[in-house]
Amino acid sequence: MPKTQSIPPVRLLPTDPSPFPLPILPPAAENDEDRVLNLSLRPKMLDEFIGQEQVRENLRVAVQAAKRRDEPLEHVLLAGPPGLGKTSIAHIVANELGAKITATSGPAIERAGDLIGILTNLGAGDVLFIDETHRLSKVVEEFLYPAMENYQIDFVIDKGPYAKTIKFQLKRFTLIGATTRAGLLSNPLRSRFGMIYHLEFYQPEELAKIVLRSASILGLSVDPAVADVIARRSRGTPRIANRLLRRVRDYAQVKAAGELTPAIAEAALTAQGIDSFGLDSIDRRVLKTVIESYGGGPVGIDALAAALSEERDTIEDVVEPFLIASGLLKRTARGRTATRAAYDHVASLKTSKADLFAASS
Ligand code: ADP
Repeated sequence: MPKTQSIPPVRLLPTDPSPFPLPILPPAAENDEDRVLNLSLRPKMLDEFIGQEQVRENLRVAVQAAKRRDEPLEHVLLAGPPGLGKTSIAHIVANELGAKITATSGPAIERAGDLIGILTNLGAGDVLFIDETHRLSKVVEEFLYPAMENYQIDFVIDKGPYAKTIKFQLKRFTLIGATTRAGLLSNPLRSRFGMIYHLEFYQPEELAKIVLRSASILGLSVDPAVADVIARRSRGTPRIANRLLRRVRDYAQVKAAGELTPAIAEAALTAQGIDSFGLDSIDRRVLKTVIESYGGGPVGIDALAAALSEERDTIEDVVEPFLIASGLLKRTARGRTATRAAYDHVASLKTSKADLFAASS
């Protein structure tokens, strides 16, 4: 039985328009420049979305089936590190369904009342996108269960002897949740998603295609060899690829009279502190600390975060997944361990001309 919430008395008929105003939406977890450009660079339909083949095909089938049956799409959970396309997919799914999308995020829904406002404003077949789903509070999460399962919410009106539980029938909507930490989702919440997809880091060839697509939208002429340089240093992440494309363009304009060759792109990325593996300064500091302060590990995540004066969440959500995926760090029961490749990479950085390692220490 879900917990109910005490909210101010209201009289509601299931057919009434929602009396609850929509809460103000939070800023997305990206910088201002990203936000403006992301609107134009974000793929709008599944065919424009590059990579993540399996997720794309599964979603294509699910969307077509739902449309044919004239039913709402089952709830979808998208998991994976930041910048891999979770928000883009949520918007694409809504576009493919021809549905309206309402976007919010776990931390923005502070009280169950905020969620009632959002849910009761949804129309039939609409998509509700909740970013950072793992950060929903327990109370809000429990409130979501009957909404996800039976499109119903229960709430208590009035207090004491007059208290009454009201059931409110919602329109049949689709929840798309995004999370950087699927492991932090409670089992009851996870089990209410009909489809769960994990997004993987992109291959350089896929990122090169994304860079070429973005360049053409931005009206930049970029040749495939330059796109390849950017792709190889983008940490497997489209958002970073798009950001580096802009930095490379700026560098070429200012330092190379607009000429954009692979060598100029390499120089631009080195100037940004991006090394040959695509690592940035925090990635390198993590490797250096594990190797030099902890003899290569194992070191616990809290000790590592304290040694680096970084948030544990940043290391776990943003830094570690790519270091693990690229074979530089291993996660063991006793902590994080640097691999042979990490030792080699750190050693090569120390002897390289650019001395990125010194710059980041
Ligand atoms: P997330 O929600 O996972 O943090 P986003 O969906 O906001 O990631 O993606 C960040 C940016 O990267 C988007 O604006 C979009 O321009 C680009 N992007 C992500 N995935 C793709 C893709 N598969 N194809 C093309 N561009 C992509």
